[in-house]
Amino acid sequence: DDGSNAAPSPEQPTCAVCLEQLDPPSRGADGERAAMPCCDRDGATMAFCVGCVDIICSQGPGGVGRCPKCRALVRRSNDGARGVFVGAELQGTCRMCLQSRTIVDVERNVCDACELGARHALRYECRACAATQRIPHPMWRYQPSAATFGNVTWACQRCGDYTNWRVHPDDADGVPLGDAPESWDVRERWLEDVRRTRNEGRGRREEDAGGFVDGAHGYGGWNVRMRRANGGAKFRF
Ligand SMILES: [Zn+2]
Ligand SMILES: [Zn+2]
Ligand SMILES: [Zn+2]
Ligand SMILES: [Zn+2]
Repeated sequence: DDGSNAAPSPEQPTCAVCLEQLDPPSRGADGERAAMPCCDRDGATMAFCVGCVDIICSQGPGGVGRCPKCRALVRRSNDGARGVFVGAELQGTCRMCLQSRTIVDVERNVCDACELGARHALRYECRACAATQRIPHPMWRYQPSAATFGNVTWACQRCGDYTNWRVHPDDADGVPLGDAPESWDVRERWLEDVRRTRNEGRGRREEDAGGFVDGAHGYGGWNVRMRRANGGAKFRF
């Protein structure tokens, strides 16, 4: 390979997550540029590869992940086009929290917050009484930082009242980095995690050297049933 020391050309930008040079557009393979619904306007300077956005979506509730740049909720296109991501725009009233939110489990009509909260039912500390309580809702979303109490209340069993909460220090590592608020300043750690997963996958695929068939991932749908079969979401309300 005589081009090994060539700098990435402007025509072939690098993925902002895994930092690898993107493959030329072809069939929407993992190394190609992901078509994003948000940060993919003409002349956009930031690009992501399909493989990285796939990892981000597969780690999110119901196959919905956040754009690494603008934090928009995105998922794989349902129409089978590989490498195309669309906004997770399905709004509805969640049957768990009765709020109007982004629905990620279309069969059960459950929103992203409830699905995420069920998967990461962390322990939180009550500001009023300092009791620890497990809460099946992503209360970290309302905390300006990991150490600060949030500005949204939840019923404390000991206080018998709605109080403010912060994630228990022992459970702080359980907050999914991709969902932590911008003010937590953990985006780089999140992207490092995705990059590591991406590079591990790349290594395996190169060993296979066989490539993969379109659709063999089982993506393209909401895939909720498959996730549950994998021991993903468990709802206990
Ligand atoms: Zn990438
Ligand atoms: Zn975006
Ligand atoms: Zn909900
Ligand atoms: Zn309390």
